[in-house]
Amino acid sequence: MSADTIVHTTSHILPPLPYADNALDPVISAKTIGFHYGKHHKAYVDNLNKLVTGTEFAEMSLEDVITKTAGKADKAAIFNNAAQTWNHTFYWNSLKPKGQGGPPAALKQRIEASFGTVDACKKELVTAATTQFGSGWAWLVLEGDKLKVVKTGNAEVPMTTGKKPLLTIDLWEHAYYLDYQNRRPDYVNAVLDTLLNWDFAADNLG
Ligand code: MN
Repeated sequence: MSADTIVHTTSHILPPLPYADNALDPVISAKTIGFHYGKHHKAYVDNLNKLVTGTEFAEMSLEDVITKTAGKADKAAIFNNAAQTWNHTFYWNSLKPKGQGGPPAALKQRIEASFGTVDACKKELVTAATTQFGSGWAWLVLEGDKLKVVKTGNAEVPMTTGKKPLLTIDLWEHAYYLDYQNRRPDYVNAVLDTLLNWDFAADNLG
């Protein structure tokens, strides 16, 4: 193959899970992780790679693909698969086995400055997560110098509206249906009480 026939692509990868597939059991079962990570997340990555091949997006970082396709109706398929690829990697890192330790001191201070207490922050996350109609995500974000809780629909990401994500909870039914069926509040409360990776949120705060 001569040099000018080589197609340059940035192949997006499915990053390894940061823990074993049964490490979040019984809050999130290995069966859920098997489908959610092994099928759903993988499909977003595979679809993204197919969609960007041969396009102006082929050599871009995942973040660049997201910001350059956001809000463009004719690029919706690329945006959705890129954002879902990013969101899921961020979600796996937002969780950790036995994550009930609470936020480290510096983050705790910031949470208390914005919400009053850590419990008030968690309550806002529950409200956002249980009132998001249909599929989407609940987020703890940094906007300006304030921490906020926001929710986004479908594949939408906080970055495109100037917010820095710190933590997320996946609210798509595939995240909880095998374990909780229609009981999204039970899933959300169990995640908040036992699986949140506050150290990851603190790292994202910078
Ligand atoms: Mn998901």
